[in-house]
Amino acid sequence: MPDASSPVVWSVPMRTRFRGLTSRDGVLVRGDAGWGEFSPFWDYDAQESAAWWRAAREAADEGWPDPVRDAVPVNVTVPAVDPEEAHRLVRASGGCRTAKVKVAEPGQTQAQEEARLEAVRDALGPDGAIRVDANAAWDVETAVTRLAALDRAAGGLEYAEQPVPTVADLAALRRRTSVRIAADESVRRAADPLAVARAHAADVLVLKVQPLGGVRACLRIAHECGLPVVVSSALETSVGLAAGVALAAALPELPFASGLATARLLTADVVADPLLPVDGALPVRRPEPDAALLDRHAADPALTARWTARVAAVRSVLAGHDPRRTA
Ligand SMILES: [Mg+2]
Repeated sequence: MPDASSPVVWSVPMRTRFRGLTSRDGVLVRGDAGWGEFSPFWDYDAQESAAWWRAAREAADEGWPDPVRDAVPVNVTVPAVDPEEAHRLVRASGGCRTAKVKVAEPGQTQAQEEARLEAVRDALGPDGAIRVDANAAWDVETAVTRLAALDRAAGGLEYAEQPVPTVADLAALRRRTSVRIAADESVRRAADPLAVARAHAADVLVLKVQPLGGVRACLRIAHECGLPVVVSSALETSVGLAAGVALAAALPELPFASGLATARLLTADVVADPLLPVDGALPVRRPEPDAALLDRHAADPALTARWTARVAAVRSVLAGHDPRRTA
């Protein structure tokens, strides 16, 4: 196992292309409290990545607040696949009672989308929950029409995640649909959730630990915005997912399944006992990296150099903002 002073850089291929990505990579840091993951996407600059670094240091140096539950229900994610595959994914999900279905995918017909939702309902049964995620693809008019059709096809939607791009669009759509609206892409920085809440733009907020600066920061945000939240991952290894699990476990209320069952979107993990659903929930635990797996998935020297430079850039941003902070 590497010593605490040298960050560990890993790289793992994605199982299927996701968010335009074919692989994920990042840094693991170690402190007195354990391991933390720093894995901002490459389109985030040093300024934006600073919150991700704070989340990693919180995990490594402080650990997380005490849990109030010992398991966290999670959703299965169904990409834009055909109905047979959608059905199979739900049935093979480890007992998930909630499915998040990708919609508004370019090249797909409305009929294909509705058939996918019908298949997911068939696989889940009448008391399962179905949410859709349009990743900001629609305009307000399209969203009003499509949500009504998808709500029918699904036999009732739990909510629709970011159907339209902006906070103003979300607010306008929310006045014209009976489907609950969740804000995801509109919540990128710590100031965003309150802006969404003030604009009455969503019924639910999607919170991710790394971009919002840690578990404690997310708990504060959830408290301040006064809206129900859904904890979701940023496609981390199980080391990063454990921070999401810690947040979901510490929230006073947890009305919705978390989007933390994403370990299988990567072809491999850095822990020997990945955070995978059992009976539709993740156990609240913190898996440790495995030395052999870290070795096997170590980034090549060029990628390691890129991450080393990136960490240095983020630390200098943080040092510039607050001279007392050197990490
Ligand atoms: Mg989303």
